[in-house]
Amino acid sequence: MKTAVFVAPGKVAVRDFAMPEIQKPTDAIIRIVRACVCGSDLWWFRGLAKREAGSVVGHEAIGVVEAVGAAVNNVAAGDFVILPFTHGCGHCAACRAGFEGNCLNATEHGSSGFQGEYVRFTEANWSLVKIPGQPADYTDEQLNDLLALSDVMATGYHAAASAEVHPGDPWW
Ligand SMILES: [Zn+2]
Ligand SMILES: [Zn+2]
Repeated sequence: MKTAVFVAPGKVAVRDFAMPEIQKPTDAIIRIVRACVCGSDLWWFRGLAKREAGSVVGHEAIGVVEAVGAAVNNVAAGDFVILPFTHGCGHCAACRAGFEGNCLNATEHGSSGFQGEYVRFTEANWSLVKIPGQPADYTDEQLNDLLALSDVMATGYHAAASAEVHPGDPWW
């Protein structure tokens, strides 16, 4: 299966990898339907942030569940899902307080390699969001809208809420 990798600033390539497999009971394997490029991908693409050469890239996607680990019961093979860019275990103090990005049980930076054909997604039970129906039930525009929910929309909303921006404010 093919996945995009970082080569050097200004250069991304598509390489062949072995199919991802379930490694922990909390994993899921997802077939990617759509992925997108984040503003934060442009940091390393432009050479403003360091990234290991050959590392897989992409953290925003929608897809269909191929397989789940034994501890995953909120989603099942065949479900159409949003893959959130940052996600924790769902049960530590940080996650329970709403700060999943600071999950105390994080052993890796969520999942990466979403700009590929398949991905191993960690903490799947807690964080995958089911979309009703299947990709074929949606238009191109709707699929793009759903894709924005994996990061861009939620991040933008969080920024506006944190800045206490309200309808009627001069910059609204
Ligand atoms: Zn992003
Ligand atoms: Zn956690």
